Amino acid sequence: MELKLQTNSPEETNFLGCLLAKYLKPGDLVLLYGDLGSGKTTFIQGICRALEVDPDIYITSPTFTIVHLYEGLHTIAHIDLYRLELPLEIEELGISDLLNTHIVLIEWADKLSFPLKDSFLEVSFTYLEDQKREITIIGYGEEGLLLLKALERDEELKKLESFPEER
Ligand code: ADP
Ligand code: MG
Repeated sequence: MELKLQTNSPEETNFLGCLLAKYLKPGDLVLLYGDLGSGKTTFIQGICRALEVDPDIYITSPTFTIVHLYEGLHTIAHIDLYRLELPLEIEELGISDLLNTHIVLIEWADKLSFPLKDSFLEVSFTYLEDQKREITIIGYGEEGLLLLKALERDEELKKLESFPEER
């Protein structure tokens, strides 16, 4: 089961992150895929904003550390695997403990050597043109499917879908 959307600005991608954030809880895992500049961090900024992370904290891809932790309504772990020499085993990554206690968001998840858990959400970003991105969301496992269904049913999703360029 998948949800395919198009966003026409960074604000829309951020908004989609905000919508998803309503349904995220500690223990949820979101894997983000897509090239540099495709919008992964923009989406995560939306999640963090909705979860009331201090707006003075600048949400950016972790580069010199593996994990950024943000405190909001829930604790968020933001991971970016772009610069890592991989494949890495989960133990080497040192995030096994976080998977049960935090909302874990991982950019460049294609660098993971094996699945971190059974249930998760996969969000893939494709550059279409300057301001347009295609975003595909797939739910895996029971929790992942529930998350996807909740997002699909969200009335506010129509705000994105009603854009004329969309269909
Ligand atoms: P990534 O984390 O995937 O490398 P970022 O979110 O850091 O990507 O950067 C995306 C860049 O593309 C930003 O400069 C953003 O302003 C721009 N952009 C333009 N249109 C969009 C869109 N529809 N969604 C997300 N970002 C967009
Ligand atoms: Mg990024």
